[in-house]
Amino acid sequence: EAQTITPQEKKNTDGPFVSKVPYNDLCSLFEEIEKTSSRLSIIKLCSDFMIKIMKEDNRNLIPVTYLCINKLGPDYMPGMELGLGEGLLMKTISESCGKSLSQVKLEYKDTGDLGQVAMTARSIQPTMFKPKPLTVGEVFQNLQLIASSQGKDSQTRKIKLIKRMLTACEGVEAKFLIRSLESKLRIGLAEKSVLISLSKALLVNEYEQNKNIDTELIETAEQKIRNAFCQVPNYEIIINSCLEYGIMELETHCSLRPGIPLKPMLAKPTKAITEVLDTFQGQHFTSEYKYDGERAQVHLMPDGTMRIYSRNGENMTERYPEINIHDFVKDSDETKTLILDCEAVAWDKEQEKILPFQVLSTRKRKGVDIKDIKVRVCLFAFDILCLNDTKLINHPLRERREILHSVTKMVPGEFQYATELTTNNIEELQKFLDESVNHSCEGLMVKMLDGEESQYEPSKRSRNWLKLKKDYLDGVGDSLDLCVLGAFFGKGKRTGKYGGFLLGCYNQDTGEFETACKIGTGFSDELLQQLYDRLSPTVIDGPKATYVFDASAEPDVWFEPTVLFEVLTADLSLSPIYKAGSATQDRGISLRFPRFIRLRDDKGVEDATSSEQVIEFYESQTHIQN
Ligand code: ATP
Repeated sequence: EAQTITPQEKKNTDGPFVSKVPYNDLCSLFEEIEKTSSRLSIIKLCSDFMIKIMKEDNRNLIPVTYLCINKLGPDYMPGMELGLGEGLLMKTISESCGKSLSQVKLEYKDTGDLGQVAMTARSIQPTMFKPKPLTVGEVFQNLQLIASSQGKDSQTRKIKLIKRMLTACEGVEAKFLIRSLESKLRIGLAEKSVLISLSKALLVNEYEQNKNIDTELIETAEQKIRNAFCQVPNYEIIINSCLEYGIMELETHCSLRPGIPLKPMLAKPTKAITEVLDTFQGQHFTSEYKYDGERAQVHLMPDGTMRIYSRNGENMTERYPEINIHDFVKDSDETKTLILDCEAVAWDKEQEKILPFQVLSTRKRKGVDIKDIKVRVCLFAFDILCLNDTKLINHPLRERREILHSVTKMVPGEFQYATELTTNNIEELQKFLDESVNHSCEGLMVKMLDGEESQYEPSKRSRNWLKLKKDYLDGVGDSLDLCVLGAFFGKGKRTGKYGGFLLGCYNQDTGEFETACKIGTGFSDELLQQLYDRLSPTVIDGPKATYVFDASAEPDVWFEPTVLFEVLTADLSLSPIYKAGSATQDRGISLRFPRFIRLRDDKGVEDATSSEQVIEFYESQTHIQN
């Protein structure tokens, strides 16, 4: 991390800064947000609070932002996850609030909210002396300590820290402290709303005296911050850059760099080659094999080391010990840093061919020893995003490709380039699509080749990249990745396991999961057993406040959202029961004849197919268009 952040970006949090904002103030904000349903009002509450705490000290904004999104740092940094187990928290609440464990358990069963249990327990507990009130800074630091604590005594250390904080909690503080520890703030505050609030607060802080802050200016600021976040997903760096250089200068000072995984560009689905030709009419485009593996963003760091990040920005370097960047960088003296976009694919060394995705997924995710590797991986590179600290994402794809080829070299079976073809002839494209499938690929990625449209757009699901998946040409053009929200007990052969699951998409505006279908097809008995073992510990007493469902489609058990299923559907239809897209449409949309394909462990639950995408899929169907 030290190598990737400039002193200016670190400046505001350097030294012993501990925010003195009373934790109680932040919790009162949470309480108010919890009671508010309008998104605009929530944003107002949140941004007003941010403006207020910045008046005291700008630096307060960083811990407050993180606590609002219930995170402790950037997603790509390890040791930042809370999500403490119920068991540990119940024990701690019982010990520090003078209640028996069975009483705590009973109350938890009644309310389904450990935060509530802790708050009630604290409120009736007589206190001999009043401890000093908690501050945001202290709580943030303690949460970081708790999240990063590992090893033999870590459990004891965690409990001690939580107890110390709990004893100092007043009123609603205990409720939100416990919920934060569980990583379940559940006040209906989506990260998107926090980002908007943050933009507004930074803007007011910068311009208050001398500029009229209208909606247009807020939208510009928001866009700038959002763009910066796609390249540098780190609130600390972004906030500090805004404070140092001004929001409008963010682009110049805060852009992608080796050591920080940028959000990958994504593709839109298409259902036919003719659709591709229609979209790219008269423009230069190029097609590449769409490899079926895992996305790998490869970084060469200034110190010569390599890092490989997953689609989610997780550092996966340990997963691929057989990959050495210096084997395929042509000239290590000339090339000091780079960022490549690749797909890591399982590779059969003897037969020199690609193996299916299922083979890759048998590899361990962490701590892989090179001696134990049975399934080798080959990287298929398709883009270069940064070279020697120069960002290339705004260069046309044609140029990026040339640079990619000029600074790297092919090493068969280890580092290759995505097979490409530049043609707009429909027969040639059809042949290329068939060929890709014969080479164990999923189909094609078709990309704009020249001009502004061919720039790399971090995080964006862009029209300038189209995916053409051979298997899905008959359905809606793509599979969907849906979150498992609940399950139905199995009958007959499936007794004792779950026989069906309730799935939902994610609404990025509201932070809610909207039900989309019930699924029971595509599972082997063995898989059902594995799913039972994995999901049963995540059962919750009732649906979460963020689940949007109809009472007629209630499952036998509800889960915490932790797992995504990739599913195929025959088509999408309007539904009286399911709720996908219902926040913006009269009726919800559901999947017809859904079929399980695989687990999507490389995606977080918030990366599930969005409600917006479901609506797009629905509307793109021929019979709807007609
Ligand atoms: P989505 O969120 O779009 O569903 P996904 O992870 O399910 O994303 P796909 O929709 O199947 O992925 O397609 C995009 C992915 O295809 C990329 O994230 C990348 O991992 C992979 N890929 C394989 N070959 C290429 C290529 N030539 N160019 C770009 N991406 C490729």
